[in-house]
Amino acid sequence: MQRTFAIIKPDAVKNGVAGQILARIEGAGFRVVGMRMIHMSKAEAEGFYHVHKARPFFGGLTDFMSSGPCVVLCLEAADAIKKWRDLMGATDPAKAEPGTMRKDFGASIDNNATHGSDAPETAAFELGYFFRGMEL
Ligand code: GDP
Repeated sequence: MQRTFAIIKPDAVKNGVAGQILARIEGAGFRVVGMRMIHMSKAEAEGFYHVHKARPFFGGLTDFMSSGPCVVLCLEAADAIKKWRDLMGATDPAKAEPGTMRKDFGASIDNNATHGSDAPETAAFELGYFFRGMEL
């Protein structure tokens, strides 16, 4: 079993599809180990996305992630990191496969509905950023 970190991003919460996304997560066989609704500050979003600090989209990305509430999740499954990345689809919803979260619920590369860790090291950092060990 492996754990990964997921976010139902502010656009999805605002659009009222957080429940549908969660149902698909559970339907795909993930165990929801941790879940919380939060509203990130700009500084918290900047800390979370620090690897993208030098990228031109960093300002817009962190404005968006701090624009409203989101749902942070710890998900568990066999090969959870890849399994959740596959279910999310490509970063740009226009390039995502039908049936994926980003195709079905994302509007653009900036408003793409979900986040998922891309490697074990990032999953460890991201889970630790939002959850205390005792919560999981
Ligand atoms: P992810 O792991 O698929 O979410 O992609 P990344 O970690 O590379 O990027 C984080 C987030 O930044 C993505 O989900 C997008 O919302 C945004 N992003 C990534 N690349 C671009 C880009 O080239 N342009 C813009 N505007 N946003 C981007």
